[in-house]
Amino acid sequence: MRIFDPHIHMTSRTTDDYERMAAAGVRAVVEPAFWLGQPRTNVGSFTDYFDSLVGWEPFRAGQFGIRHHATIALNPKEANDPRCRPVLDELPRYLEKDGVVAVGEIGYDSMTPEEDDAFAAQLALAVAHDLPAMVHTPHRDKARGVERSLAVVAESGIAPQRVVLDHLNETTVKLVRDTGCWLGFSIYPDTKMSPPRMVELLKAYGTERVLVNSAADWGRSDPLLTRATGEAMLGAGFTDDDVDRVLWRNPVEFYGQSGRLDLTDDDLAEPTFAGNSILRGGS
Ligand SMILES: [Zn+2]
Repeated sequence: MRIFDPHIHMTSRTTDDYERMAAAGVRAVVEPAFWLGQPRTNVGSFTDYFDSLVGWEPFRAGQFGIRHHATIALNPKEANDPRCRPVLDELPRYLEKDGVVAVGEIGYDSMTPEEDDAFAAQLALAVAHDLPAMVHTPHRDKARGVERSLAVVAESGIAPQRVVLDHLNETTVKLVRDTGCWLGFSIYPDTKMSPPRMVELLKAYGTERVLVNSAADWGRSDPLLTRATGEAMLGAGFTDDDVDRVLWRNPVEFYGQSGRLDLTDDDLAEPTFAGNSILRGGS
């Protein structure tokens, strides 16, 4: 089983995770820029983070045979903080970088006017830089958040097939399905989507334009839930080809629209499972 996790925050994860992911078949990831939990107090805090997403983290992933790409944005939550908004002016230079495959995560957290502005401005950046957009949908008041997100997307003029609405569930999938946008599902250990619930959605709606991710981050989450979903699909009668489509070919197709996906493995290490000296040299 080859796996491309199209939404995972490896900055928050350990080398143990990289080892387990490589052993489970994860060969590529996309890491969206997001909120780190601790509020940022200045723009430099963003740019150091972005530099890490396009520099250090791809190097770290490479030690385990995993291709790493990033999406760059001002996240929805911090769009409300006046100390953070000036980062919008710094985004264009990052959106030109090789490993950056979309603008994201953008969208709504609490659906404030400040979030409206940042969302629209960043969709305009996606259009200007000819990049896809990765849209986070809010965890509270999700249906209204999805409806409003779709309206902002439509107004921006970006092509729907270049947009993924992420963190969907049974109640929001229908809203997005007929718009032409991609459908993102984050599989979590206890709340929200689980592998069995994901399988039911795939049975009901098919595998087209569906992205399945772990969205693993600094909270309770599990980077192997992509693999668990693939196994649940096989257990429910889906074929190896169906699994490959959902867990590999779909993310390749979506993020391939950036023209920047690099899935060659020439300069990657063979997956290593012990004793990586470079990554133990931190202190
Ligand atoms: Zn995320």
